[in-house]
Amino acid sequence: MWSRSLVISMISALGIGAVACGSAGDGAGDDTTPAPGTISAAEASDLVWVREEEKLARDVYRVLDDAWGTTPVFANIAVAEQRHMDEIAVLLDAYGVADPVVDDTVGAFTDPAIAQLYAQLTTAGLPSAIDALAVGATIEDLDIFDIDARVARTDRADIVAAYGRLTCGSENHLRAFTGQLDAVGASYAPQYLTLDAYQAILAADHQMCGSP
Ligand code: MN
Ligand code: MN
Repeated sequence: MWSRSLVISMISALGIGAVACGSAGDGAGDDTTPAPGTISAAEASDLVWVREEEKLARDVYRVLDDAWGTTPVFANIAVAEQRHMDEIAVLLDAYGVADPVVDDTVGAFTDPAIAQLYAQLTTAGLPSAIDALAVGATIEDLDIFDIDARVARTDRADIVAAYGRLTCGSENHLRAFTGQLDAVGASYAPQYLTLDAYQAILAADHQMCGSP
């Protein structure tokens, strides 16, 4: 947990103003946890998108594990996606942003665009184990691409750090899926990342991604 002075100095540095904590400096309520400040509408909608996008990953991997559970990769990575969902939920709560996950059921989404991705990706992964692994690579390709765009829209250290852990995990997942495709003589071509960025990720080693 950050100290009050650190939070206030960060808020000041960001030019957001010192209104985040009404009791700051007036001696009243100093035993309360300071509010972390406010975030922009863009930062809020980005967190909302990522929260459901992590659920998309978790849910698709649960479906593909049911279909192709002979490899533990989908079940294992689904557990990581739940952690990623939880991390973003903490930030939504901290900043008072409504959680789009109102129904935790597999396949239930608030954003129609994510619901459509869920339908497309689960359908694409059902014909064969290779198709399922390619869907896994596609999801990680998309997640890294989407989070990269959102890191550029925030300076808040807690959000940047969370996005960094999600990207770190996605890079591990992308290597896991493409490694399994390699093992059966198949390959994946990136659909969102540039070829250079994709190849740099594949060339890197597995990373420990830390925790909040
Ligand atoms: Mn993830
Ligand atoms: Mn992932």
